[in-house]
Amino acid sequence: MTVEAHKETLEFKAEVSQVLDLVIRSLYSNKEIFLRELVSNASDAAEKLRFEALSDGGLYEGDAELRIRVEVDKDAGTLTISDNGIGLGRQEVMETIGSIASSGTRRFVEALSGEHAKDSTLIGQFGVGFYSAYIVADKVTLISRRAGLSAEHGVCWESDGRGSYTLETVEKTTRGTDVILHLKEDEKEFLDNWRLRSIISKFSDHLALPVEMRKELYGEEAEAKKNEPPEYEQVNRGTALWMRNKADLTESDYHDFYKHVSHDFEPPLTYAHNRVEGSNEYTALLYVPKKAPWDLFDRDQKHGVKLYVKRVFIMDEADKLMPHYLRFVKGVVDSDDLPLNVSREILQHNRKIDTIRQANTKRILSVLETLATEDAEKYNQFWDEFGKVLKEGPAEDFANKERLAGLMRFATTHRDDHAQRESLDAYIERMKEGQDKIYYITADSAAAARHSPHLEVFRKKGVEVLLLSDRVDEWLVNHLTEYKEKHFQSVTKGDLDLGELADKDEKEAKEKAAAEHGSLLEQLKTVLGERVDAVRPSTRLVDSPACLVVGEYDMSANLARVLKAVGQNAPETKPTLEINLEHPLVKRLEAETDDTRFNDLALILFDQAQLSEGGQLDDPAGFVGRLNALMMKMMESNS
Ligand code: ADP
Repeated sequence: MTVEAHKETLEFKAEVSQVLDLVIRSLYSNKEIFLRELVSNASDAAEKLRFEALSDGGLYEGDAELRIRVEVDKDAGTLTISDNGIGLGRQEVMETIGSIASSGTRRFVEALSGEHAKDSTLIGQFGVGFYSAYIVADKVTLISRRAGLSAEHGVCWESDGRGSYTLETVEKTTRGTDVILHLKEDEKEFLDNWRLRSIISKFSDHLALPVEMRKELYGEEAEAKKNEPPEYEQVNRGTALWMRNKADLTESDYHDFYKHVSHDFEPPLTYAHNRVEGSNEYTALLYVPKKAPWDLFDRDQKHGVKLYVKRVFIMDEADKLMPHYLRFVKGVVDSDDLPLNVSREILQHNRKIDTIRQANTKRILSVLETLATEDAEKYNQFWDEFGKVLKEGPAEDFANKERLAGLMRFATTHRDDHAQRESLDAYIERMKEGQDKIYYITADSAAAARHSPHLEVFRKKGVEVLLLSDRVDEWLVNHLTEYKEKHFQSVTKGDLDLGELADKDEKEAKEKAAAEHGSLLEQLKTVLGERVDAVRPSTRLVDSPACLVVGEYDMSANLARVLKAVGQNAPETKPTLEINLEHPLVKRLEAETDDTRFNDLALILFDQAQLSEGGQLDDPAGFVGRLNALMMKMMESNS
């Protein structure tokens, strides 16, 4: 390898200064967190080394004692955080430190609202940890050497965080990274030993790695050892938090650790900490965050908890430890029984991993159930953030379908707003006498669902209907077909059978009407031709003249639209047009003697039915033309 000794000055990616300003402004009131972020990075670097060294012991360079050191130089006004972890090569420094994980940053800047309070909470989700150094420093120097490279492959990065940074190849005998903060004039409090010790034990007690500071010597001892190399002592507790006894841990211990594993700046919503003994021993500490990350629905993004084996960090985002629909869960699983050289491939087909995943799933479902019963408001917060992901559950996790359904919240006709707040249990409690189904409608917006003509008869009879308008809802109802032995029934599908709810007299009247109005139905079918499968009198409608329904086992019109929108093929299903024989417009149509006018009215009725369920017309201009002609007629007859 050739060594690029030259010093170069490079520009930051455009957004960096903007992000930096925001980081500094937002976090200033809580400025000591810079130390948590830098120590956290150092600890990650040590864990990465330990992992890589499993297959290449040479990376230790003869020193396997991993530690982090925090040192002050009062004269120079600097604070240094050093680790003997994996270190960074020149290219890596450019890619990671020089650009702030670029795609993340771009999205971050896009997500900014300009509102200070809102923007501050965003920061944690985007991993700008290293840059928190600029809260207290006006210049930062990072000197690093990757483990396994020779001393002359060190690299020195330096920047005042304004527009550019310099990069220079330097000699570094020890592997790992030193981050040197040149403290701002009014931040010199961070040169104080006691202040630093208290921050370190506050934020880093739970790290498995020792964080050391120079031992302070006084009086004679100081004099005697003046010319000896400095001694260091450990200032954090240094035991992995998840291995400690639950009884010894406080809520704030758990919260601090959460911030370390999740890079979130807010405390979690809830958590579960369990130790499992027996033939598959492990500890799991799992957190449900308060806020969904921006990339929750990004397919390429990895999610998952950290996997450790006997306290050794193995991998981030071990996605096999949680089902996909719980991908927002953060935390740690530490196994005593997996091999240290476990790879992602091994995780795919491992019975122990499967058992851990199943148990983790149950734990999370159970903390959510507890939250839902004990603190409905908090649970609603959770649902607003993660409801859409949880709805993926029944398709993926057959075994927990019923429990998942119990956790779901829906908008329904019982409430006037679109918030998803009603549980299926509450729905069942409100079911009418004789009702044996859970009725729902799917549409592509909350308003389209709520105002659909298909709901009219349900409103009239006071029967509650779930209003489903998230995209995932179509998949949900495909996989969740019953809850507590009550079947789900779409109100837009099939020959509406209200069972015991139907009024016998009404039903007979409708049948009689169908026979009496046979020729109208036939005539309509002739005009609409291939557009419809059949035309029949409706038992659904009260105020509207017509609506469209599909067969019980056909794909719903809404799903067909969703599929088209994402570029997939949907089978053509012909709907049935249902008409309301009581409606004045339909009566008027029946009395129409002019064929052209009958045709126009029939087509308008059909197009209207399509529009009111959120569909798109095949020939919108034709519709407008016919409607206008009709209005002109009205104006003529009025003048
Ligand atoms: P995050 O830690 O959220 O990824 P940071 O801005 O804190 O964001 O760090 C960016 C990247 O820089 C890290 O992911 C890591 O690859 C690298 N890095 C930071 N500090 C160190 C360090 N002490 N040793 C090795 N790599 C580091």
